[in-house]
Amino acid sequence: MITIIYKRDKCIGCNSCVLVCPLFFSMSKIDGKSVLLKSKLKKNNYILKNIDNVFTRYLSKATKICPVKIIKIIIH
Ligand code: SF4
Repeated sequence: MITIIYKRDKCIGCNSCVLVCPLFFSMSKIDGKSVLLKSKLKKNNYILKNIDNVFTRYLSKATKICPVKIIKIIIH
């Protein structure tokens, strides 16, 4: 299984993660930062757990494309 850890406060709103991973990210019209869909806020990080490993390559695109490197994935 995969866990995504997203440090949203550092997002610069470039939209790249949304372009490569629209199943998991969308842009907020309120503050212009991306939103990790269905995630929970824990100690300043947005966390989404229990994602099937079939999304490994898909999510790796977001971790690589983010210019400020604030999207991490942990593969369990
Ligand atoms: S790629 Fe990174 S900086 Fe750009 S919108 Fe997504 S999280 Fe924010």
